Amino acid sequence: MLRQSEKTVLFIPALGKGRKMAKVLVIGGAGYIGSHVVKALLEKGHQAAVYDNLSTGQKVNLFEQAEFIEGDILDSGLLFDTLRNGFDAVVHLAAKKAVGESMEKPNKYSINNIQGSLNILMAMAECGVRHIVFSSSAAVYGMPEYLPVDEAHPLNPINYYGFTKLEIEKFMDWYDRLKDMRYVALRYFNAVGYDSEGKIRGKEKNPQNLLPIIMETAAGVRDGMSVFGSDYDTRDGTCIRDYIHVSDLASAHVLAIEKLIEGMPSAVLNLGTGEGTSVKEMIDAAEKVTGKKLNVTYAGRRAGDPATLIASSEKARNLLGWKPQITDIEEIIRTTWNLEH
Ligand code: UDP
Repeated sequence: MLRQSEKTVLFIPALGKGRKMAKVLVIGGAGYIGSHVVKALLEKGHQAAVYDNLSTGQKVNLFEQAEFIEGDILDSGLLFDTLRNGFDAVVHLAAKKAVGESMEKPNKYSINNIQGSLNILMAMAECGVRHIVFSSSAAVYGMPEYLPVDEAHPLNPINYYGFTKLEIEKFMDWYDRLKDMRYVALRYFNAVGYDSEGKIRGKEKNPQNLLPIIMETAAGVRDGMSVFGSDYDTRDGTCIRDYIHVSDLASAHVLAIEKLIEGMPSAVLNLGTGEGTSVKEMIDAAEKVTGKKLNVTYAGRRAGDPATLIASSEKARNLLGWKPQITDIEEIIRTTWNLEH
């Protein structure tokens, strides 16, 4: 049993009249992105429940107002027992996501990502839950053939993780055709930052991504860090990525659910800012925000890294009326640094 004090209590403003409330199961809702989605749902007056096996998700990310079901997506029985309780929609973020590991242990990714997602779709179909928002990834595109990358870009994942995300998108498309289930697949670019109100306290364990590594270096958790490649054809030789704040990702999930319930057809949408930041620019901005000099080593390129990856998110802007709010890289870093020290 969770002690009440372990969960965060949110202040939820009164709802405007006539707004339709959705009952949403957030699978993977104790994780980094999922917990921000739960907060965004609750703050818009929706009802949220969290389903999570706590393999990487954390109890400190739970909210008092969202029921918690500790469960695994490989447990079809529990999924069914949960989903038959009148949910309008599912947000599915439960997945293994380490790109390198996916190449070494593909079975783990087949089982957790593909089989787990099929279990969710089957339980939804069985229980009559007709809307799903799925956390997909820019990894479905592989090496960019043109920039910015839009949703019409060829789909050639170069790692098994990206392949699993693409296959799940295809399964959802078939469930749309065969089971009348509408989906929105959100292809995230580089997710960064934390809730600016500090309500989400669970830092990711053993982070593999650039910004958390920079933060740990600034905080002295690591002695130093490496920049993977400084000879790319970019403005300063280091890789450029499209960093999108996690609270902006979260708001897109809520909008996607609302639109699906209003009757929007299924859609695949990129989520990014359309702006690129280089590794070096990120490090410089972090030094400025934290006031710390980072111990940086310039190392060789990392296999599979494109020089530049930037999203076109016009489709999300048009279909959802979505617009990222936190786009200043220093502000993004500040929301992360607040948690670090
Ligand atoms: N990167 C780096 N040092 C690190 C981690 C990442 O130079 O310790 C670079 C990486 O090569 C890429 C960028 O930072 O160009 C973003 O990497 P990340 O792993 O965060 O996300 P990805 O773009 O691979 O999904």
